[in-house]
Amino acid sequence: KPVFSAQDVTKVYRSGDVEVHALRGVSLELFEGEMAVLLGPSGSGKSTFLNIMGGLDQATRGTVRFRDLELTACSESQLTRYRRNHVGFVFQFYNLIPSLTAWENVSLVTEIARDPMDPGEALELVGLKERMQHFPAQLSGGEQQRVAIARAIAKKPEVLLCDEPTGALDSKTGIFVLEALSRINRELGTTTALITHNAGIQRIAHRVFSFLDGRIAETRVNETRIEPA
Ligand code: ADP
Ligand code: ADP
Repeated sequence: KPVFSAQDVTKVYRSGDVEVHALRGVSLELFEGEMAVLLGPSGSGKSTFLNIMGGLDQATRGTVRFRDLELTACSESQLTRYRRNHVGFVFQFYNLIPSLTAWENVSLVTEIARDPMDPGEALELVGLKERMQHFPAQLSGGEQQRVAIARAIAKKPEVLLCDEPTGALDSKTGIFVLEALSRINRELGTTTALITHNAGIQRIAHRVFSFLDGRIAETRVNETRIEPA
């Protein structure tokens, strides 16, 4: 049984009499422990689809299910609960609190989660064991993003959704961030959907969905997936 299933999802944004058809019938299934990459040109609907999967936005038509929960039938407060209990988000910008150390930034989440891991454990998973007492300004961009990833996984979400997590990083630094995500996917079994342009990811993903004009134009199974060291 899939973790996510999307059936013919459409999304129309309206402002005044202007309509933008951001999604024009997207169907896909994501399986337990899968690492899926959403590719495609800017404006092809990737963020819109990821936001709908994460309960940040509602589809206009179609059905999206997370296990037995039909997200497309949820109220705003049900979606809030879904996001809080099941989903970790990573965005392009890290949004760390500058006056708190890496450890303290992660602990903000673990203090309110139901069954969190220890902040130190989360930071160790992303390779920042030696940097736990550093403040964001003392960390590189890639390290700050890894703190943001530690923060996202510390509540042990079943799903991790990442929107251009390496978008603000050079491609070399980005690789470390992607490897941290891959490691989490392997060691915790977190089902992961990821928007990225970083070519390195396509080697460690299980499947790549290529978006074009609000549709999935191609689905590629990665037969030569490389397990990073
Ligand atoms: P991406 O880097 O994925 O291309 P964008 O820069 O297109 O992201 O959009 C960033 C955010 O701004 C999106 O999450 C989306 O909700 C919002 N957005 C994008 N396009 C529009 C628009 N035309 N009107 C209002 N909000 C938009
Ligand atoms: P991608 O992530 O592939 O860059 P998006 O999902 O951000 O694509 O955007 C798909 C289309 O929907 C674009 O034309 C974008 O301008 C539009 N769009 C996205 N968010 C909004 C919004 N909040 N309001 C209006 N239009 C939006």
